[in-house]
Amino acid sequence: AQANLEQKTVLITGASAGIGEAIAREFVEAAGGNIRLVLAARRADRLAELSRQLKQSGAQVHTAQLDVSDRATIDAFFAALPSDYRDIDVLVNNAGKALGVEHAGNIRDKDVEEMFATNVLGLIKMTQTVIRGMKERNSGDIVQVGSIAGIESYPGGSIYCATKSAVRSFTQAIRKELISTKIRVMEIDPGAVETEFSLVRFGGDATKAKKVYEGYEPLKAKDIADVVVFNCSRRANVVVAESVVFPSAQA
Ligand code: NDP
Repeated sequence: AQANLEQKTVLITGASAGIGEAIAREFVEAAGGNIRLVLAARRADRLAELSRQLKQSGAQVHTAQLDVSDRATIDAFFAALPSDYRDIDVLVNNAGKALGVEHAGNIRDKDVEEMFATNVLGLIKMTQTVIRGMKERNSGDIVQVGSIAGIESYPGGSIYCATKSAVRSFTQAIRKELISTKIRVMEIDPGAVETEFSLVRFGGDATKAKKVYEGYEPLKAKDIADVVVFNCSRRANVVVAESVVFPSAQA
């Protein structure tokens, strides 16, 4: 087990599926079960099942329903954290989505707003809240799940790409703001990962969702989780500021 992960408290948003769920599993594995997790997402039933499994591996787990796009539920979520789980050592801002694959003019207001509210505003509010405690304790890791979409935009992704480049700019700035502290700020930018992401993006159309991964092998959620946990388990003086992770056949 990785000694520098043991006994840490790790908060993961969007832990009910895909990359977030894989990150939760990987932290437990790497810490040999000696870790505390706060698992948050909107689907509480999924979190309960994941929690049951992770507890069997020895982890302490608190699950909570959280909609990061809603300020009131963010406040209620932090207010209801049990005392053992309040000092967050690692924040993984993973909750996010793409909605619609249309030219910009065709994307509905509702989808534009939900993408920004979740991917950008939610991530910013979660970061701001957790940073306060980290600053008091002068320690902590913040991991933002960005995307290669935040580095290079593509047709059909105008709004989603804009949200992820906003994540990247915000993250660069806070890393510099916190440079004289022991808080590390890291970003991971995945290429295509096979999760429910594509299903959400195509409004539940499984055939279209599957087509995205035709002709090449996408990453698995665990491939991203491995990198996140590796980065967080470096010694304190090492900051892997940004990790860009592609499937080998993706341009
Ligand atoms: P999934 O759709 O499989 O998982 C998304 C997670 O986010 C779910 O747990 C979902 O849970 C949660 N979520 C969605 N909306 C909210 C919300 N408002 N509040 C709280 N949680 C929410 O997708 P991935 O695992 O693939 O995506 C995770 C992150 O990785 C996202 O930020 C995505 O942009 C990024 N990414 C994904 C890539 C890919 O190819 N898959 C590539 C690059 C980046 P629930 O519905 O229960 O709330």
